[in-house]
Amino acid sequence: MIKMVADIREYSSIVGQAVIDELFYLGDKLKGKIVQNINSTAVGGGVAEILSRMVPLLKQLGVDARWDVIKGNEKFFTITKKIHNALHGVDIPISLDELLYFQEVNRQNANEMDLCGDVMFIHDPQPIVLIERREAIGKKWAWRCHVDFTTPKEGVMAFLKSYIERYDCAVFSAPAFARKLSIPQALISPSIDPLSDKNKELPQETINSVLDQFGIDKMRPIVTQISRFDYLKDPIGVIEVYKRVKRHIDCQLVLAGGGATDDPEGAKVLEDVRNAAADDPDIHVLLLPPAKDIEINALQRASSVILQKSLKEGFGLTVAEGLWKAKPVIASAVGGIPLQIAHKYSGILTYSIDGTVHYLKQLLNEPEYAKKLGINGREHIKNNFLITRHIRDYLLLFLSLYH
Ligand code: UDP
Repeated sequence: MIKMVADIREYSSIVGQAVIDELFYLGDKLKGKIVQNINSTAVGGGVAEILSRMVPLLKQLGVDARWDVIKGNEKFFTITKKIHNALHGVDIPISLDELLYFQEVNRQNANEMDLCGDVMFIHDPQPIVLIERREAIGKKWAWRCHVDFTTPKEGVMAFLKSYIERYDCAVFSAPAFARKLSIPQALISPSIDPLSDKNKELPQETINSVLDQFGIDKMRPIVTQISRFDYLKDPIGVIEVYKRVKRHIDCQLVLAGGGATDDPEGAKVLEDVRNAAADDPDIHVLLLPPAKDIEINALQRASSVILQKSLKEGFGLTVAEGLWKAKPVIASAVGGIPLQIAHKYSGILTYSIDGTVHYLKQLLNEPEYAKKLGINGREHIKNNFLITRHIRDYLLLFLSLYH
């Protein structure tokens, strides 16, 4: 879902005019070229979040950027979620029939879609088979992987590799995800948009009214994890952390998230979370509809500490979102998260429930230390993970495909 974005020139107040001038210079070199992004969901999750900002901003720079979403039924998305989980190292059987169905739905999409990009920019495994059209279309193809590839199951990895290596290049979010491939690989980390509804400054009245709307007490500490309801985000682990900390410190837990149309597992996870939360009135499990950006922004800004206790994580936009708001973030040292957090400098990295409990107690008890982590975290995000840097990297990538 394309969102309203700011004028690209407005970002100069954050990143400086020279950065914006360079983006226009690079965009000009791609004038007339179509960049067609294809992924598997228009809302929910980090990929849709980024595309909803990136595509309109690229247009402002003169690039003919487009965004299309493949279609699939529940059977297809159940299979793609299995592939997703297996790539994240989860032991899960995937049958030959399922892989054949996965290919078939991709081929149906290829027949129905207008594959028109000068650069075909295919995001994640779900639409990866579209590369079969490479010869018919004859343009440049890049595969953009947002998945944590540190410990993929080899069977599914080998299946995907047979497709990945037909692309002109593959793009990964973190050095740890690079694979032995016969094609060039680029490292481009994701980003957040500082001027979006999700990240812009908010008046205190807006923050207060969101807390009132959800019945959250303003006077006691708020610990928050924003995430799709997905086992890989470990929401049950978060509840355990909260319960152990709560024995010592009176705080509240907010677990807020929605679903994604390509993630059929969400309802089951939400049910498990609600059961684990039981009847504790200080655990707020909030099922958010899509595009509740102001609400998410307000919840993050109202938080004393933000958690991201993922078991696997391609990047973790929610970490960047929290740090950008100068919040202390405690997050698992997995996938792309350590790119964002230098331990005890710009946040806290943990490896276990015990560790998370320990540091959550410390940050709630030492607000000055917590504040320092948040300030350093904001600076780190400003220097490395804002959308202007991301656009520059993509423009250079697209240009490199034509030279
Ligand atoms: N998000 C959202 N609504 C929700 C839950 C998450 O808008 O109910 C957003 C969140 O703020 C972040 C993105 O979705 O911008 C999630 O990206 P992340 O990289 O953290 O995880 P992913 O869902 O891609 O695994």
